Amino acid sequence: MLTTGKPILEAARSGHYAVAQINLNNLEWCKAALLTAEREQAPLILGVTEAAVNYMGGFRTVAGMAIGMNEDLNITVPIALQLDHAGYEACLQAMDAGFTAVMYDGSAKAWEENLEQTAALAAICRRRNVSLEAEVGSIAGEEDGVVGTGELASPEQCEAISACGITCLAAGIGNVHGSYPADWRGLSFETLEAIKAKTDLPLVLHGGSGIPEDMMREAIRRGICKVNVNTECQQAFAAAIRTWVHSAEGQEAKSDRLPRFLAPGVAAIERVIAGKIRLFGSAGRAFG
Ligand SMILES: [Zn+2]
Repeated sequence: MLTTGKPILEAARSGHYAVAQINLNNLEWCKAALLTAEREQAPLILGVTEAAVNYMGGFRTVAGMAIGMNEDLNITVPIALQLDHAGYEACLQAMDAGFTAVMYDGSAKAWEENLEQTAALAAICRRRNVSLEAEVGSIAGEEDGVVGTGELASPEQCEAISACGITCLAAGIGNVHGSYPADWRGLSFETLEAIKAKTDLPLVLHGGSGIPEDMMREAIRRGICKVNVNTECQQAFAAAIRTWVHSAEGQEAKSDRLPRFLAPGVAAIERVIAGKIRLFGSAGRAFG
């Protein structure tokens, strides 16, 4: 059942669990995420980067697929369709196409401009019943051209942007996009507590791939309500297909049928998604 991010995140905050945001990269990923959420009876957010939107054809293609599949597969758990790390114009295009949630990422802009554009979008999102995630500071790593130098968000900036009428807030607490470096110093719970002292909004952790499970549980216990996962699914999908292609079964002629070829990858991402849903505590929480 398609909804906005707002009820999903508010339920997560009051229930002390986190919702998984799983990125869509094609039809198989959309289906894997929806079916796994339904099987786990978990709310879920489908995230789509602008690069993935362009790859798949455009906003209407992605929205049409996600909305149609939600209905065709009789998905009953709450699902939001969110544009991930986007500019102002792309957020508007996504809303026009039927996305129920957008993330405006003004972190590469001057702070005043980020604040101003976030506030302007918040007013539009409120009118159009679309949830809005904003970002303060930058999150290290590379994601579709948005590059940040790993940092801890300013609690004062978190307070100011929260007053704009946004739905949830992404703030750097030492997390990074992509794989974590060997010398990573871990999440800063001190920063998380300082941000929580300044805002009641649901907090979002980007770069959810590769954070040790104990550290993840602690972050959720301390108020993280949404965790974005992409890299781990990408790695699992590619590794499973690569292994299968080189196997005896994969070398058979009948393996050239597309569904058969992609099936090992689909099974692998379904395992990753189910594992995250359980780790984040959202399994069985679709209806309270
Ligand atoms: Zn991100």
